[in-house]
Amino acid sequence: MNFELTEEQEMVRKVVRKFVDQEINPYIQEWDEKGHFESSIMNRLADLDLMGVCIPEQYGGSGMDYNTLAIVCEELERGDTAFRTAVSVHTGLNSMTLLQWGNEAQKQKYLIPQAKGEKVGAFGLTEPNAGSDVASLQTTAIQEGDYYILNGQKTWISLCDHADHFLVFAYTDKSQKHKGISAFIVERTMEGFSSQAIKGKLGIRAGNTGELFLDHVKVPKENLLGEEGEGFKIAMAALDNGRFTVAAGACGQILACLEESVKYCHERKTFGKEIGKHQLVQQMLAKMEAGYQMSRLLVFRAGELKNQGRRNTRETSLAKWQACDYANEAANDAVQIHGAYGYSHEYPVERFLRNSKAPVIYEGTREIHTVMQAEYVLGYRSDKTLSRSLPAWPYDEVKEEV
Ligand SMILES: Cc1cc2nc3c(=O)[nH]c(=O)nc-3n(C[C@H](O)[C@H](O)[C@H](O)COP(=O)(O)OP(=O)(O)OC[C@H]3O[C@@H](n4cnc5c(N)ncnc54)[C@H](O)[C@@H]3O)c2cc1C
Repeated sequence: MNFELTEEQEMVRKVVRKFVDQEINPYIQEWDEKGHFESSIMNRLADLDLMGVCIPEQYGGSGMDYNTLAIVCEELERGDTAFRTAVSVHTGLNSMTLLQWGNEAQKQKYLIPQAKGEKVGAFGLTEPNAGSDVASLQTTAIQEGDYYILNGQKTWISLCDHADHFLVFAYTDKSQKHKGISAFIVERTMEGFSSQAIKGKLGIRAGNTGELFLDHVKVPKENLLGEEGEGFKIAMAALDNGRFTVAAGACGQILACLEESVKYCHERKTFGKEIGKHQLVQQMLAKMEAGYQMSRLLVFRAGELKNQGRRNTRETSLAKWQACDYANEAANDAVQIHGAYGYSHEYPVERFLRNSKAPVIYEGTREIHTVMQAEYVLGYRSDKTLSRSLPAWPYDEVKEEV
C-alpha cells in the first residue's frame, strides 16, 4: 500500500490543473450560460496526450496506469463536469472497452485514432424506455449479408453531436433477453445516422448531450464488438470503467466546493467574525474534507485493482455511489456557505450544485448502486472473472486474444 502519487502522476496532476485554471476556468461560466460545448478543449486535451492516458502506447495512448486516468478526471472536474464527462465517455466507456473487447483490426482502426485524440468516441446505451433497465432497450440489429442493419433511438448520449465513433447496443435476438444484446461500433458518417442535442438541462450545460437516431444504418459485420449476444456483458464491463472516471471526477467536484467555500469563509464576516469561525459552517467544511478523502481512497482502491487486472465491479460501484453523493452534498453545502450569493452565478457554486446532480443519475443511479452493494453483502451477487479483462498495468505488449 502506497498512498503517495508517483512523480509521473504528480506531473500529470499539475499539467491538468494548470490547463483547467488557464483554459477552462476563465471561460466556463460563459460556456455554461450559453449552453456551449467548446469542442476545441478536446483538441487541447489531445495536444496534452490526455485523450488516451491509460491506453497502451502500442495503441496510441500514453501508457500510464489507471489511477492516472482518475487524476486527470479529478482535475478536469475541479473545473467543470462537462469536460470530465467527455473524457469519461471517450476514454472510460469507449476506448477502454475497445481495449478490453476489440479484436486487433478494431483496435487498429478505431482505438488508435481515439487514443491519439484524432477521433472522439462515445457510448450509446440509454434509450427513451431503457435506462437502469438496460434489457428493455428496443434498438435492433438484423444481419443481412455482410452487414447488420441497425434501427432505433438512443437518448441522453454525451457527445452526441461531437463524437465520430459510437458504441451502440442493440438486440440481435430479442428472444434471448439480455443475452440477445450485441455491441457495435457505429460511425457518424454511416448513412441513416443522425443526432440532436437536448436543450434545457439542469446542469452540465457546457456539455453536449442528446439523442441518436438510427434509421436502417448499415454497419459492416466486422464492427460487431465481441460475439453476438455479448453486448450486455460488454456494456456492464464498460460501466466499470466509466463509473471509475465519474467517481474520480466527483472528487474534483468536492475539491472545487472546498476551495471556493474556504475562500468565502475567510472573506465573509457575520457577527463580527469570519463565517469560518462559526462551528456550524465548519461542520459543512469538515464534511466536504471527509467526503473528499474517503472518496479518493475508494477511487484509488478501484484503480489499483484495475492495475492488477482484477475484476472491480463491486469496488467501482461503491466508489461511484459514495463519491457522487458526497459531491452532491458538498455542492449543496457550498451554496449554503455562500448564503444568498451562492444562489446566483456571481459565484461558481450554483453551477457546481447543478452539475453535481447528473453524476448521481448517470452510470447507475444512486438507487442502483445502493441495491448492488446490498446484494453483494447479502451474497445475492458476486463477480466472476470475465472472458476478457482489461490488461494489467504496467503494460507488456498486449497480445491479441483469439
Ligand atoms: C447528463 C447525462 C449524460 C448521460 N450520458 C449518457 C451516455 O453518454 N450514454 C448513455 O448510454 N447514457 C447516458 N445517460 C443516461 C443515464 O445513464 C441514465 O439516465 C441512467 O442510466 C438512468 O436511467 P433513466 O434516466 O432512464 O432512469 P430510470 O431507469 O427510469 O430510473 C428512474 C428512477 O427509478 C429508480 N429505479 C429504477 N430502477 C430501480 C430499481 N431496480 N431499484 C430502485 N430504484 C430504481 C432510479 O434510481 C431513478 O430514481 C446520461 C444521462 C445524463 C443525465
